[in-house]
Amino acid sequence: MKLAEQLIRERRLTEGEYAELIAGRTPEVAERLSAAAAALRREVYGDAVFTRGLIEISSICKNDCLYCGIRRSNVHAERYRLRQDEIMSCAEEGYALGFKTFVLQGGEDPFFTDEVLGGIVSAIKGRFPDCAVTLSMGERSRESYQTLRDAGADRYLLRHETADPRHYARLHPPEMSFDNRMRCLKDLRDIGYQVGCGFMVGSPYQTETALAKDLKFIETFKPDMCGIGPFVPHHDTPFRDKPAGTLELTLFLLSIIRLIHPPVLLPATTALGTIHPRGRELGIQAGANVVMPNLSPVAVRKKYMLYDTKLCTGEESAQCRGCLDARMRSIGCYLAVDRGDVRTY
Ligand code: SAH
Repeated sequence: MKLAEQLIRERRLTEGEYAELIAGRTPEVAERLSAAAAALRREVYGDAVFTRGLIEISSICKNDCLYCGIRRSNVHAERYRLRQDEIMSCAEEGYALGFKTFVLQGGEDPFFTDEVLGGIVSAIKGRFPDCAVTLSMGERSRESYQTLRDAGADRYLLRHETADPRHYARLHPPEMSFDNRMRCLKDLRDIGYQVGCGFMVGSPYQTETALAKDLKFIETFKPDMCGIGPFVPHHDTPFRDKPAGTLELTLFLLSIIRLIHPPVLLPATTALGTIHPRGRELGIQAGANVVMPNLSPVAVRKKYMLYDTKLCTGEESAQCRGCLDARMRSIGCYLAVDRGDVRTY
C-alpha cells in the first residue's frame, strides 16, 4: 500500500517502483488505485464519456507484426479496402448518431498514399467542420504526417506497443524498429497533432520491467491519448497459443495511467469488452473515459480481425452506440456528444 499511496500523492514513481507496484499488487491496492483514479477522472472530465467512431478503412497491411491477425503473412485473412464514398457514408451515419470524432484506422496499406488519404481527410473535415479526424494508419514519414496534418487531421494514434526495445523486437519482424516507432511519435507531436500511444496488456514476453518502462514513458511523454487493452490471441498468427492478457491487470494499469497523467484520454477498449462482458464499464470505473464504437460497414467488420472473438462485428452502428450508452448509464456516466478534446489539468 505504501507505493500506491506514494503514487496517488506524487503522481510518479521510479521505474523500479512501478515494477514493484505491479508485481506486489493485491485486490486492496487495486481497489485503492481504482477509487483514486475514478475520482480524478471525474474531477477532470465529470461523468462524460467521450466517443470516437471507428472506421476500419483497410485490412491490407504490408507489416508482419507477430500478434496481429491482419499481418501480411496471414494468407487466411480476408482483405478489403473501403472507397472514399463508403468512408463518407460511415461518417454520415456516425454524425447523425452524435459522433464528433472519426478515427480512420487500418493496416499499412500502400494504396493510402498521402494524396489519397489526405483527400479523404479533407473531404471529412469539409463536410463535418465541427468534427475531429483521428488517423491510426501506422508508421509514415515525417513529411507524410505533415501533409496529412495540413489536410486537416487533428489527432494520430500510434501505439508504441512496448517501451522496452528488446520486447519490441520479439513482437515485430526484424524490418520494424522500436526507434522508428518512437521517431514517429515524436514527429507527430512536433507537427502539432494530439498524439496517442499505448500498448497491449499481457502481450507475449511482457515482463513487469517492460510494463514499468511503458509507465515511465507515459509519465514523461505525456500523450494526449493512451490506448491500452489486453492482448487477445489470433488463431492464424505465431502467437495463437499464447494466453490473453487479463482484465485484472488491464484495469490496474488503467488506474495507474490516469493517476500519473490526469488529463489523458483513456479508452476502455473493444479488446477489454471482448475478454469480459462488462469489460468496458469496468474500464471506465477504473479511470478510463473514452469508448470507440465501430462505425465500419457491417459487411467488412468480420474482416478486420486483429484478434479472435472481437466484439460488435455483427451489429449496426446505431445499435453499438445505443448499447454503449446504456452500458455507460448503468454506471452513472453518459456518452457525450462532443469532440472530446484533451483538457488541461
Ligand atoms: N496499423 C496501425 C493500426 C494497428 S491496429 C498501426 O500500426 O498503428 C491497432 C492496435 O491493435 C495495434 O496498435 C495493437 O496494439 C492492437 N492489436 C493488434 N493485434 C492485437 C491482438 N492480437 N490483441 C489485442 N490487440 C491487438
